[in-house]
Amino acid sequence: MPFYEERFMAEEKRDYYEVLEVERDADGRTIKKAFLKKAREIHPDVSDDPDAEEKFKELNEAYMVLSDEEKRANYDRFGFDGPQGFSGYGGFSDFGDFFGGGLDDLLGSFFGGGVQAQSQRRASTRGANRAVYLDITLEEAARGARKKVSYVHSVACESCEGKGTQDAEPHYTTCPACDGRGSTFEMHQSIMGTIRTEVTCPNCKGMGEILSNPCKECDGEGRVEKNETIEIDVPAGISSGQRMVFTGMGDAGIRGDKAGDVIVTIDILPDDRFQRQGDDLYCLLDISSLEAMCGATRHMKDIMGNDIAIEVKPGTQYEYRIVVKGAGMSHLKSELRGNLICIVRIITVSDFTDEELEQLKAMRDARIETSEASEDAEVEAEPKKKKKAKRPRKRARK
Ligand SMILES: [Zn+2]
Ligand SMILES: [Zn+2]
Repeated sequence: MPFYEERFMAEEKRDYYEVLEVERDADGRTIKKAFLKKAREIHPDVSDDPDAEEKFKELNEAYMVLSDEEKRANYDRFGFDGPQGFSGYGGFSDFGDFFGGGLDDLLGSFFGGGVQAQSQRRASTRGANRAVYLDITLEEAARGARKKVSYVHSVACESCEGKGTQDAEPHYTTCPACDGRGSTFEMHQSIMGTIRTEVTCPNCKGMGEILSNPCKECDGEGRVEKNETIEIDVPAGISSGQRMVFTGMGDAGIRGDKAGDVIVTIDILPDDRFQRQGDDLYCLLDISSLEAMCGATRHMKDIMGNDIAIEVKPGTQYEYRIVVKGAGMSHLKSELRGNLICIVRIITVSDFTDEELEQLKAMRDARIETSEASEDAEVEAEPKKKKKAKRPRKRARK
């Protein structure tokens, strides 16, 4: 198994307003001010915090959504699962998107040209993240599980050791097609005349320079595609939609730059017996009418496969909820477990022998006579059957 640094970000995503520390009705200016203030503190180029990059991504994501009227409206209405699909880091996780997105001017004034240029350079060659979806069972989610995850990613080319060339030192020349700008102009004819649009230079792929004597194996990119299988430890208590990030396990950077991450999103398959609600599990418990009347102890296996006893009290009614404390889902951050809630369904016993039925009828009639005698004759002349149906409820209240 390859070595990797594992970071776990299963905590709930923080609310964007909370991240930026602004009120929910803050206007665009306030949001921008809050963003710049925080960006200055936590930007990875100036902060010593080892989690600076992660924090900055979070801040960036919050700002990207709240500064865009449409995305913000969607977020206010739908939360992270909005129809725009902007949930998650996927859309704009890279510094590349960030610095390339026109915001560099905004930040440039704080970090100075040098830092900014460095960031921009790094962004353009950093390896991309790879997204993987992993299905697990509810039991695996409860116990925690070791799972294999397969994906395709770019790795450093062995032939050139990731340099993109067999030369001892890579040698670059300015791209003749774009003069080192990284972009060129395309002309389009329209009824309005000629329209000029700026596009990424196809010759240098936007890098502005060309590598001399590129490696034949990887076309000078310094990396090739490879199937990878890693084993990951899914922690007990994880929920559907939570993500695990494996730093540096994504695509290798171009010509030896920093690698991207693998982001594994967990999906929990439906379970036959249990339904999850937070840390609690719900199940149906079928008992016979006799068990409902007289009480009973039922034994079953919980989600972890442990034996548990469920106490059915005498006089249990349909849809009663019996709570078994601590027999629910594992909690992600502690040893505690949620509860198991059994919803009772009562199956009427229908296979009595003639003899048993006679005994039950005798009991029924005796009860009717007793209650009539004790409660005097207030509702006489009513058919006996009707009265019988009402009785148990009255008695249950005592
Ligand atoms: Zn190569
Ligand atoms: Zn070019």
